[in-house]
Amino acid sequence: MRRAAATFVLALLLAAPARPAAAAETPAGTSAGTAKVDPLPMQEVAPGVFVYAAPYALAGRGNAGAIANVGFVIGRDAAAVIDTGGSLKAGQRLLAALRQRTALPVRYVINTHVHPDHLLGNAAFAGEGATFVGHQALPEALAARADGYLKANAELVGPDFAGTRIVPPTLLVSTRLDLDLGGRVLHLEAWPTAHTNSDLTVRDEATDTWFLGDLLFVGHVPALDGRLSGWIAVLQRLSARPAARVVPGHGPAAVPWPAAAAAIDRYLTTLQAQVRAMVRDGAPIGEAGRAAGVESGKWALFDDFNARNATAAYHELEWE
Ligand SMILES: [Zn+2]
Repeated sequence: MRRAAATFVLALLLAAPARPAAAAETPAGTSAGTAKVDPLPMQEVAPGVFVYAAPYALAGRGNAGAIANVGFVIGRDAAAVIDTGGSLKAGQRLLAALRQRTALPVRYVINTHVHPDHLLGNAAFAGEGATFVGHQALPEALAARADGYLKANAELVGPDFAGTRIVPPTLLVSTRLDLDLGGRVLHLEAWPTAHTNSDLTVRDEATDTWFLGDLLFVGHVPALDGRLSGWIAVLQRLSARPAARVVPGHGPAAVPWPAAAAAIDRYLTTLQAQVRAMVRDGAPIGEAGRAAGVESGKWALFDDFNARNATAAYHELEWE
């Protein structure tokens, strides 16, 4: 850890001449403040595309809420960040990792959906002059949950949550939007309600790398907060499009596509079939949690999410 910190300070010193003069005046908590945090260990999954593959964990003390995959793409003129982690500190660690690799401005911070582990680090980039980008449904979804997210995560994460605040997107995507980083275009696409009602994907045209957010879970059990049937349908549409690699919201930094969709599709369709049968047979909702039990043991954090998924599915499917 000490060596990593020393290396980072050295990297900062070496990078100093290339950095804009204004950086010296950046207040603590943004660029200058990142010297105090350990940069997230990133993997370069394709040229200029960096991903932090988060551990399978719930937000808690010791991880600063950095439990979702986050990344950045570096173009000729600017960089874009894709998701920011679950606290200001998690975002600062991501920014520190970015600053190890480029002095270019962060032009865009893109959030793939409303969940706190993907966007509570936004404030770390507020001093970078970035435009915050999200699904058109994101501001409203976020406003409705802001207080609950901040309270719950402050309790879970503890002291590392200090300074965390909500920074909503101002550039909204209703269908598609292209963002130019200088000789490098990102294709953003907004999806109908699936994992959540604000799912957005980001495709780096240069390397054919596709950030799927939590539309794709690998290893970590899926968490349903949108519509089960919608999620299955969106996954089908995503799977019909090849990509050199995709980045899941939880799981390894990059996985092959569409092969990586098989496990989540099996989980979701199993859950759907079993809950649908329960509804048909008049089983009480209290029994819904038993659905998809055959998937237990195949997923990390299964017991933390499966019963909730099944209950949500029951509410959805009883109105079919
Ligand atoms: Zn999510």
